[in-house]
This record gives sequence, C-alpha cells and structure tokens, in this order.
Amino acid sequence: ADIASELDAAIRTIPNYPKPGVVFRDITTMLGNAPVFRRTVDELVAPWVGAGIDKVAGIEARGFILGGAVAHQLRAGFAPIRKKGKLPYDTVRIAYSLEYGVDEMEMHRDAIEPGEKVILIDDLIATGGTAEAAVKLLQQIGANVVAAVFVINLPDLGGAAKLEALNVPVRTLVEFP
Ligand code: IMP
Repeated sequence: ADIASELDAAIRTIPNYPKPGVVFRDITTMLGNAPVFRRTVDELVAPWVGAGIDKVAGIEARGFILGGAVAHQLRAGFAPIRKKGKLPYDTVRIAYSLEYGVDEMEMHRDAIEPGEKVILIDDLIATGGTAEAAVKLLQQIGANVVAAVFVINLPDLGGAAKLEALNVPVRTLVEFP
C-alpha cells in the first residue's frame, strides 16, 4: 500500500475534540503501530538522506517524537522548539496566533549555528500559523531552513502556502479534507 493509505488507516479520528465541531487527527495510534511508525519515519527522511542536514527542529510535543527519530536517521542534531518558559538558557521568542488568542514559542539562541541546514518537523499543518512562527524563529537565529515536513496536511486551511511564502518547501505524507 502507499504511505498515504497506510497512514489513513493508522491515524485515529476523534470528532468534537478538543471542542465541539473540531475533528482531531490522533497520531498516537500510528506511533503505536511499529511497522507504520517505522515506515513513516523512513518516508519523512527519504529526500534528505545524504543531503548534509545539520539539525532537525521539532515543535513541541509531537514534533519531538518524530523529530528525534528523523534526526537519528539523518545523523543530524535535534533542536527543540518549545512553549514559552520551558527552556533554561538564553532564548529567542516569537508570538503567534491560535484560533482563540495568542501564544509564544521559544528556542535556545545557540540551538542552531548561523548557516546550518535545518529541517522543521511537526505532526500536522493546518492554518500554518504554528509552523510559520517556527520558521521565523529559525531564520532569526540564522538557520537555513531547507524544508518543513509534516505527517498530515489539512490543505483546505492553506498552511503550506504560508511557508512557501517564506521560501520553505513543504512536504507532507497524507491529506485530510
Ligand atoms: P496550525 O498552526 O493551525 O497549522 O496548527 C498546527 C498545530 O496544531 C500543530 O502543532 C498540530 O500539532 C496542532 N494540531 C492542530 N490540529 C490538530 C489535529 O487534528 N491533530 C493533532 N494536532 C493538531
């Protein structure tokens, strides 16, 4: 089967979570499925094997699970992008919009050296607001963000275009309407 069909079968859909009217795509069932998890990581890394990626940047929290595995496969370092107040050293911070209100994310200022080739990873791109803020943070500390990769794309919400406007190509493995 192609990876999109395997993911479609392995990802659980929860209606009305975290609030009424929202359809939540739950990747924990995919993470718990050993062959599908392994193949997902393999598919995420495939275009970048031998490409000299220095670091993988993962967005808290599901981007940590995927990003650690991807970094290991690529022999790259890992840089965590966290909710504000969690990182102990000097940080850079950016505010971004959520559906209701704003939040802030942070990275350690020295997590990436200027010019390093970085891949950004998260489980899902919806409006793209979260990933756009992460790309801006990475670019602010001098990262060369060569791609943003996600397991799931919700294309109706237009997130990929936001990243492509920042010159960051987007790759995703499965789409849900
Ligand atoms: P965006 O900023 O609108 O693109 O939302 C993406 C962020 O929200 C990512 O960090 C996702 O992990 C999270 N997210 C939004 N919808 C879902 C979902 O259905 N399942 C899992 N995570 C989601």
